[in-house]
Amino acid sequence: MEDEKKSFTDLGLSAWIARQCDLIGVKNPTPIQKNCIPHIIKGGDCIGCAKTGSGKTLAFALPILNKLCEDPYGIFALVLTPTRELAYQIADQFNVIGKTLSLRTSVIVGGMDMMIQSQELSRKPHIVVATPGRLADHLESCDTFSLKRIKFLVLDEADRLLEGRFDHQLKTIFESIPEKRQTLLFSATLSDSLDRVKAIADEKVFIWSASNE
Ligand code: ADP
Ligand code: MG
Repeated sequence: MEDEKKSFTDLGLSAWIARQCDLIGVKNPTPIQKNCIPHIIKGGDCIGCAKTGSGKTLAFALPILNKLCEDPYGIFALVLTPTRELAYQIADQFNVIGKTLSLRTSVIVGGMDMMIQSQELSRKPHIVVATPGRLADHLESCDTFSLKRIKFLVLDEADRLLEGRFDHQLKTIFESIPEKRQTLLFSATLSDSLDRVKAIADEKVFIWSASNE
């Protein structure tokens, strides 16, 4: 099943994305990218598990950027992640690939001025990368921005997001986003919480775990 020679364009990504990857030294897709990207491009939901450092960020960032070119209206994708540090790392990867698109990415995390963040959100970023607590604060405190039109919801480090401590904030966020969207879950480990998600996931959800290799 694995075809080691698959290139980024073989996965259905545009040539400009493959070129941007090449420029930053990302030459060939990793296994999680090879397996998940074609399903995401086709419009499916996806759960992907592979250890830290296996390239999960680009596994969702590349197909999202690919789609963004077709439909650049409003906040396009919301990426949730458990820590500030991860939020900045994810935004960096979007920015480095998306720079020829004039991509606008906002990082919404705790410890920064709420007003400045609100102004940033009102400029309609394409991609919002956030920790749940701060994003829920914005949703509860004002309506300068809306998540009603997002096309993608990504839960990065999904096992950590779903382990319980973010439940209240996630509820606020999930109530603010459209039901019709693509949902992408990525995680390094398959925890009980992710197992439960898998158990209730629609049979159309593509589930790939590195142990499948
Ligand atoms: P994970 O989220 O799985 O822990 P990351 O997405 O943060 O891992 O990727 C780890 C590093 O690998 C990053 O520096 C990223 O730029 C790099 N990387 C991602 N995909 C590839 C690839 N196909 N080829 C080479 N390097 C890659
Ligand atoms: Mg990661």
